[in-house]
Amino acid sequence: MRRASPRSSSMTRRLIAGVLLTELLLATALLISLVYYTRRQLLSAFTLTLRARAIATAALVRYGENPPYPLKFDRSLLPPAPDKHHPDFYRVQLQGGTIIAQYWPVAWTPPTSGSAAFNLHGVPYRVLRLTGQPVLDTEENLSGPPPLLTVWYAAPALPIQARVLDAALFAGAAGLLLLAATGLLTIWGIRRGLAPLHDLADRAAQISALNWEFRPPATSRSTAELAPLIAALESMLQRLHRSFLAQREFLGNAAHELKTPVAILKSTLQSLLQRPRDNEAYRHGLEQSLEDVERLHLLLDRMLRLARIEQAAESGANASLPDVSLAAGCAAALDRLVHLAQSKDIHTELRVRRDALVRAESDDLELVWSNLIENAIKYSPNGSRVRVTLDAGENSARVVVEDEGPGIAESDLPRIFDRFYRAEQSRNRDTGGFGLGLAIVKSIVEAYQGRVWVESRQPRGLRFGVELPAQALPVAVPEPA
Ligand code: ADP
Repeated sequence: MRRASPRSSSMTRRLIAGVLLTELLLATALLISLVYYTRRQLLSAFTLTLRARAIATAALVRYGENPPYPLKFDRSLLPPAPDKHHPDFYRVQLQGGTIIAQYWPVAWTPPTSGSAAFNLHGVPYRVLRLTGQPVLDTEENLSGPPPLLTVWYAAPALPIQARVLDAALFAGAAGLLLLAATGLLTIWGIRRGLAPLHDLADRAAQISALNWEFRPPATSRSTAELAPLIAALESMLQRLHRSFLAQREFLGNAAHELKTPVAILKSTLQSLLQRPRDNEAYRHGLEQSLEDVERLHLLLDRMLRLARIEQAAESGANASLPDVSLAAGCAAALDRLVHLAQSKDIHTELRVRRDALVRAESDDLELVWSNLIENAIKYSPNGSRVRVTLDAGENSARVVVEDEGPGIAESDLPRIFDRFYRAEQSRNRDTGGFGLGLAIVKSIVEAYQGRVWVESRQPRGLRFGVELPAQALPVAVPEPA
């Protein structure tokens, strides 16, 4: 299943276009180089031919038979021009002197040096000038060095043009054929090379809320470029799956928690309406209903609070928060719970080794401390102790809440911060909890980039610790008496 919106750009097409364009440029550059090289070789061979013909022409200069033995040129011995329609031209001249022979188009002045090109009635010609060519003929009656000749020889360069064109056509055709063949190979290779990506996309597309199983094909897994993508996908899916399950569990638990008080409320109201009762009975029924509504209200309040904290943590908007003192927060939480502690004759204690400032909403942190301290008081036996200790390092602070209660089983410890988690014994007891208090603690602490943990104390009790990024205050606050 291949999906592509009309506007999306295709990686395959871009790769193929890139490779084909490079191949085309390469073929063009090769063609130009080949044509240039062939032309140069042909020209140098042509110049050699012109030279040979110029020497052969100079060799036709002879002395006359009688004194003063004038130089003559025997035109009849000239070899026939290779091109019948376009004759060769020549001029033979005594060096710096008389013209001995010539067959030369009048319109054109011979060059004064080396070789040159010219056009005669649209036909390209090349001409070579040869100097210092001695007269080869000898005459016994003449003494001294032989006179020197300058020879110009011109021939049509049409064959060169034709052969260059031939070479260009051949190279062009071969290039196009090769381009087509390599182009097809490229398309096939790129399609094949990208196949693991498509297979991976197909497998990823099969994932849904009903099917979380992600099995990347073996070819994708063994592709070096795809391995990091697969690892990232797998870890993302694991996190998504976990959070999906957590959300579902939360919804189920919330529905379950809401169901009981609503059912009780309904049955109380139904039994009140079944038959007429006296005022006292109505009052009692309404009071019971109000209790249930209050519990519902408390549960909804906790759930909303949890949702709000998690939302705030996701948006990460805590730049403009004030600095709050941890010691002040812990003291305020203890203060609020003093009556609960007194009702159970529990001795509470706050030890501040070193105070610290945390950038946070003071209500949020107070909720953390009061949830931990309230649990410690709630689950501890009458007459026991609850101790809160605060200490700070350079960049972090730690608050520890310890109690002498029953603790919980080691196997249950990892689940204690889960939402709606309650240890068996506390479900049966009338502690009034929903199992959301510690989940709220964890969410708040993590929203402020901190961590929370729990461990059992010996011989009994639990120890909760919270560590938060904080700025330690320079002077230790004296411990309250
Ligand atoms: P609850 O509202 O039920 O107290 P919490 O999330 O605060 O919910 O606590 C979850 C469960 O962890 C409790 O139901 C209780 O079983 C256990 N728990 C928490 N704190 C303590 C403690 N200090 N001592 C023993 N058990 C505790």
